[in-house]
Amino acid sequence: MKSKKLLKAMSLVCALAIIISCVSYAASAIVIIKDVKNVILLIGDGMGENSIKWTEDELGYEAFTDTLPYRGYSQTDSLSGTTDSAAGATALSCGRKVYNSNLCSLAVLIDGNGATLCTYTNVSEVAKSLGKKVGIVTSDLNSGATPAGFSAHTYKRELAEEITEQQKSSGLDIIWAADNGLSKKEEFEKAGWTYAQTLSEIEETEKSGRSFAAISGCIYYDDGSESAAPLSALTSCAIEKLDNDNGFFLMVEGAHIDKNSHANNKEGMFNAFTEFDKSVKEAVEFAEKDGNTIVIVTADHETGGITYNEEKKCYEYTSDGHTNTDVPLLVYGSDELVKDGAAVKNTQVAKFIADKLGYEGRFPKAEINFGFIGELIAAIYKAATAKIAG
Ligand SMILES: [Zn+2]
Repeated sequence: MKSKKLLKAMSLVCALAIIISCVSYAASAIVIIKDVKNVILLIGDGMGENSIKWTEDELGYEAFTDTLPYRGYSQTDSLSGTTDSAAGATALSCGRKVYNSNLCSLAVLIDGNGATLCTYTNVSEVAKSLGKKVGIVTSDLNSGATPAGFSAHTYKRELAEEITEQQKSSGLDIIWAADNGLSKKEEFEKAGWTYAQTLSEIEETEKSGRSFAAISGCIYYDDGSESAAPLSALTSCAIEKLDNDNGFFLMVEGAHIDKNSHANNKEGMFNAFTEFDKSVKEAVEFAEKDGNTIVIVTADHETGGITYNEEKKCYEYTSDGHTNTDVPLLVYGSDELVKDGAAVKNTQVAKFIADKLGYEGRFPKAEINFGFIGELIAAIYKAATAKIAG
């Protein structure tokens, strides 16, 4: 009799525990933030749905990214077809589809010579115009296509020097990336930046100041060994520095999901994804505490054509390039961008960010380049003379 009672009491406790855990899950699932102050966008470069599933499957890992409540897909194609990271970043930051290699601009490329039809306002500029702080954090070089897509306008992504120069005069608050060897400390300091090269130097930067970090080769190691400046540590540090009464916009990129999938290096991809996943957790944990922050997680495209092989019962790479597969689009704090597994154009992400930051002007916004015809003639001439000389 006694044991029956005990059993009953125990099952009651279990039931209660299950109810409590369901309630706390549901509570985080139904959070809709009315008064938005901050937006954090995390881009897993090359992260398809199967990049996440493969990592979970093979490592027995539970991805935090997979717990975000509002879920769907982003359609990533560019005007060139399957997108590259430049056109992908431009769609996510400016709300416009462009040709591959274009950064926050619509340009025609003729054998690498460019003519710019117009430049587009990106969400970093939108946030600055609203008096918000803006940060860009990546495991890639500062001139990589994704960070450049939130901080520069060029007709092609290879113009690393020009991109670095534009970042220097961008007026952004944080740009932390791997060193591309082109940012000169003295020049950045003269332009008002605190220049850092290690995580501890970054941590020591003034909260009220602007900081540019050119980290020398230690944000990410393919073999999973401890980095001296892990992306998740940079993410939490950036959030702490950017948090202020007017709010902020932060873009975080995990670049090595893409790089490892290009090399079909699954272990490297797993390591890159789990570090990115930790960064997502940092962002959402801040958002839960803050109460006025929306977090968006997506990719610019899928890399590696990762597919589940039914016969072999495992995932595998089927490509070493980008694919046109829809990528995950996951949101904490709003159901307006995506929900219930719907697929939306990647350009919707930029429009959503501008809207949530409180921008009331026209967006997407283009500035026409009236010199286009002249640039086009020059590009055709350059291409032709190079061919004759060659
Ligand atoms: Zn990419």
